[in-house]
Amino acid sequence: MRITMIGSGYVGLVSGACFADFGHNVTCVDNVEAKISALKSGVIPIFEPGLDELVSTNYKAGRLNFTTDLSSAVADADVVFIAVGTPSRRGDGHADLSYVYAAAREVARSMKGFTVIVTKSTVPVGTGDEVERIVAEERPDAEFAVVSNPEFLREGAAIEDFKRPDRIVVGTEDARATSVMEEVYRPLYLNSAPVFFCDRRTSELIKYAGNAFLAMKITFINEMADLCERVGADVQKVAKGIGLDKRIGDKFLHAGPGYGGSCFPKDTMALVKTAQDYESPVRLIEATVAINDNRKRAMARKVIIACDGSVRGKKIAILGLTFKPNTDDMRDSPSLAIIQALQDNGADIHAYDPEGAEAAKGLLSNVTFGKDPYEISEGADALVLVTEWDEFRALDFRNLSKLMSSSILVDLRNVYPEDEVSRHGFVYHGVGRSGAVA
Ligand code: NAD
Repeated sequence: MRITMIGSGYVGLVSGACFADFGHNVTCVDNVEAKISALKSGVIPIFEPGLDELVSTNYKAGRLNFTTDLSSAVADADVVFIAVGTPSRRGDGHADLSYVYAAAREVARSMKGFTVIVTKSTVPVGTGDEVERIVAEERPDAEFAVVSNPEFLREGAAIEDFKRPDRIVVGTEDARATSVMEEVYRPLYLNSAPVFFCDRRTSELIKYAGNAFLAMKITFINEMADLCERVGADVQKVAKGIGLDKRIGDKFLHAGPGYGGSCFPKDTMALVKTAQDYESPVRLIEATVAINDNRKRAMARKVIIACDGSVRGKKIAILGLTFKPNTDDMRDSPSLAIIQALQDNGADIHAYDPEGAEAAKGLLSNVTFGKDPYEISEGADALVLVTEWDEFRALDFRNLSKLMSSSILVDLRNVYPEDEVSRHGFVYHGVGRSGAVA
């Protein structure tokens, strides 16, 4: 199969490299020249474990190519995936579909022969209909089908998720497109990944419903964490106790600073907006969005309380900036709101993140970035663990207690048991556990 991937970001690059690894002939397109020239010279513009090797192997084997020339890449393709960004539209929170529609128009102008156009970007219900209208308007003569195929990979585990997905969802009722998509995903059939075919609108909604459900689950356990702090219970045990029930499951029940990242915040908001437009409000998700927004500033208040009620003039060391470990993605990371709130209260912020610092520098001001946890902790009044990178799981607290001016740990990911850090003279504050700040 000749596959063209429009957009070579977190989704397009991973999907393109994985399809190439399955033996398909893939061309990844991006309109950012610097990204394409970096990729051609072997530099991966994002951090995703294992991606550099996967890209380099398939590039050398000639199955994976990179270009800014969309039109020649599309002309040769059997299938064109659109994997461009769909950020929140400034001002109203709807998904901004301008990149998708612009890509669709460009694809229409260049395609030759029967072409399957697949939206891999996360797009609201009805977007496929509009893409179809745009393509038909641009090229009334063309033979094509528009398919929805949402992506469910998680940054940080993207290759594994793509190659061994829980399911593949394909929205099309066109027979020719169905057989093309079967061929695209045939290598995964062999891994017995369930491929679920449905109509396009249903497929589009599955992606939003899935993300909204997960965001709601996180928000649920975060509210339980607050309640645990009030009543003297332990949220980790509550999570374990309910997670053992197979109807509930144990995933996405880790209390923390609230969800962030490039998907949940914008997708929950877009679903709320779509539902309002259709006069069928999704109140659970509206509440989820509001609770999660408040939570980030509440985490800053937790730090302030841990510092005896004030962070003015105090040095606060922040461990981890990305919204989760194993990515350099800073989009909508809770750290941004937490740091801003601490700065608003007069804190002097020093931060370290293994991969996210470069992106964070463009989003934060007046933050001093360090090269490891110990450098930023020198003279610090409190250490705040925001993202649970592996390298923060075995900190040398003996050393930290000597370096810091007060031994306070605010562990927003519940990485440490209280007794392990209190042995070294630290005052411990977790989330929803005994000893936590209410
Ligand atoms: P991204 O911003 O990392 O990548 C998008 C890329 O598309 C950019 O490199 C941009 O330059 C390029 N682009 C935009 N318009 C273009 C055009 N006309 N021609 C060529 N290139 C163009 O975004 P992402 O994180 O990969 O997300 C892409 C989509 O996938 C979004 O809808 C997102 O919601 C969805 N998604 C993301 C994830 C994730 O974990 N990041 C997971 C599942 C789904």
